[in-house]
Amino acid sequence: MLRRKITSVFLLYAFLIPTAAFGQTSSAPAVYQAPKDVIDKIKEEGSKNSQVMQTLSYLTDVIGPRLTNSPQMKRSNEWTRDQMTKWGLQNAKLEAWGPFGRGWTLKNFDAEIVAPYNIPLIAYPKAWSPSTKGAVTGEVVYFDAKTDADLEKYKGKLKDKIVLVSETRELKANFTGMGNRHTDEDLTKLANAPDPATAPRNNNAQMSPERMKAFVDRFVSGAKRMNFVMQEGAAVVVDNSSNGSGGTIFVSGASVAQNIPADLTDFTALRRALLQPQQKEAEAKMLPQMTMATEDYNRLVRMIRQGENLKMTVNIQAEYSDADPMGYNTVAEIPGTDPKLKAEVVMLGGHMDSWHAGTGATDNAAGVAVAMEAARIIQSLGLKPRRTIRVALWSGEEQGLFGSAAYVKQHFGEMKPGAQNQPGALSKTADYENLSAYYNLDNGTGKIRGVYMQGNSAAAPIFKSWLEPFKEMGATTITLSNTGGTDHQSFDRIGLPGFQFIQDEIEYDTRTHHSNQDVYDRIQADDMKQAATIMAAFVYQTAMMDEKIPRKVMQ
Ligand SMILES: [Zn+2]
Repeated sequence: MLRRKITSVFLLYAFLIPTAAFGQTSSAPAVYQAPKDVIDKIKEEGSKNSQVMQTLSYLTDVIGPRLTNSPQMKRSNEWTRDQMTKWGLQNAKLEAWGPFGRGWTLKNFDAEIVAPYNIPLIAYPKAWSPSTKGAVTGEVVYFDAKTDADLEKYKGKLKDKIVLVSETRELKANFTGMGNRHTDEDLTKLANAPDPATAPRNNNAQMSPERMKAFVDRFVSGAKRMNFVMQEGAAVVVDNSSNGSGGTIFVSGASVAQNIPADLTDFTALRRALLQPQQKEAEAKMLPQMTMATEDYNRLVRMIRQGENLKMTVNIQAEYSDADPMGYNTVAEIPGTDPKLKAEVVMLGGHMDSWHAGTGATDNAAGVAVAMEAARIIQSLGLKPRRTIRVALWSGEEQGLFGSAAYVKQHFGEMKPGAQNQPGALSKTADYENLSAYYNLDNGTGKIRGVYMQGNSAAAPIFKSWLEPFKEMGATTITLSNTGGTDHQSFDRIGLPGFQFIQDEIEYDTRTHHSNQDVYDRIQADDMKQAATIMAAFVYQTAMMDEKIPRKVMQ
C-alpha cells in the first residue's frame, strides 16, 4: 500500500480528480451464484491443499526485499512467472512499463557510535541512498533548524559531520497491544457508509487551499533544510523513524535536495518537477542517508544536549543498476472456455515490489501469494471459467501505483489530463469493454471481511450474495465507500470496476507496513487461506456470470 508522505501527496493528487467523474449506473444484472458443490470444492482446496504460505516464504525468505527495479524484483518477476506456469497457467510473462529509473542493492552496512564509548545502533539505509566514501567517522550534530534564521546558526558547522535531521519523538507505553481486527461496530459503520457519489461534488477530489498551502510550505521548508545540509558538505544524514518502537523502524526512499520553483501556485507543475531518488539525476542531489530506531535516535539527541561529544562510524555501500530502466509486471492466465466470452477478462492481483528493510511480507507478498493461490485453486480444480482469468503482479506500486497505471493505460485506456483542477477526457482502447472486474489485495495479512464498492451500488447485490457462503469465515460487509492507496485505483479512475477487499488490520500500521518487521513471521496463515479462498470464489463467479460486473458511468 502506498503511504501518504509528502511526495506521495503530490502523486496522489494526480489520481483524485478523474475518479470523481464517475457516478452510479442504474441497471444491475441478475445475480449469478456458483453451485454449492463448486464453492465447497474451492473451500476445501483453499484450506486443505493450500500453497499460499509456501509461495509467501519463497517471495519473502528466499528472494527477500523487492525494491522496484532491483535485481531481487526482477527475480521475483521471473520466479512468479515460472511458478504459475508450473501450476498450469498459460501465457505467463513479464510485461515492461516505464522507464522507471535505476535499481538499488545494499551491499554492506554498519553504523555505531564509537566515542565517547561504543554504542551499537539500530538503523537502515534509505532506498537509493548513495554510498559513503568507505567507512566514515564524524562528529554527530543535531540539526535543530526550524526557521531560515536557524539555518544561519549551522553555517560552516556541518562539513563531514553525521547530521541528525529529525526531531525527537516521544514514546508512550503500549497498553492496548499492536494487533486488531474489525469489530462488529466498525463493520456496521462501513456497511452504513453513504454512496461517495452523493457526497458534495469534488468533496475529496480537491484539496482545500489551506491544505494545499500547508503541503507547499512543508515542501519548501524541507527542501531548504536538505539543500543547506547538502551545500554544507555533511557526510551522512540520519532521520528518526516516523513510527514504531521496540526495534521496529519504518524506512522508505531517500530524500532528494529538491529545487524550489519560483511559481509555487501550480501544484501539478510542482509535482512534475520533483526529482525522485530512483532517477539518475537525483544521485548528485542526495547525501548518504539512513533511518534510525527512535530509542537510539532520542538518546543521541539527549546526550548531545547534555554536552557530550559523539562520534559515529557509518559505512553504507550500495550499488545502482542502470542496465535496464524499465519496470516489469508479471501476468499469467487461465484461458476462458466460452467461445463468446473468452475474449473478456477477469483480473486479480497485488503488488510485488516492496520497501527494503524487511522482506515485504504484509506489503505486499501477502496479496501476491493470495492472488496466485486463488488462481492455483481454480486451475487445480479443473474449473473451466467462461471468461479468461488473468493474474497481474505489479511493480512500482510504492512509488505511485506505476506498474498498474501503465498496464491499465496500455491495455484499457487513460484519462487525458484536463485543464488545471478540471476532470480529464477518457480515451479507451478496444479492450476497455472486455474487462469485467479487477480484484486487488493490498491491506496486509488480515483476512477478508468484505468489499469496498467504490460507489458501485449496482454490483453490491452480486457481491452480497457471493459473500453469503463465507459468513462463518467472517466476510459479510459490503460498503459503498472508496478506499485508496492501492492498485485497484488505476482501474477505478478510468471507470473500470476495480475493487479492494476490506481486510482486518492486524499489525499493519502499528508494526509491519514499510518497516524492518514486515517479515514472514508477521503473516497469519489462516487469514491468508481465507483470503485466497474468497478471492478464488469471486474471480470464478465473475468469470462465469452471463454479464460483466456493472460499471459506474461517466457523469
Ligand atoms: Zn506499501
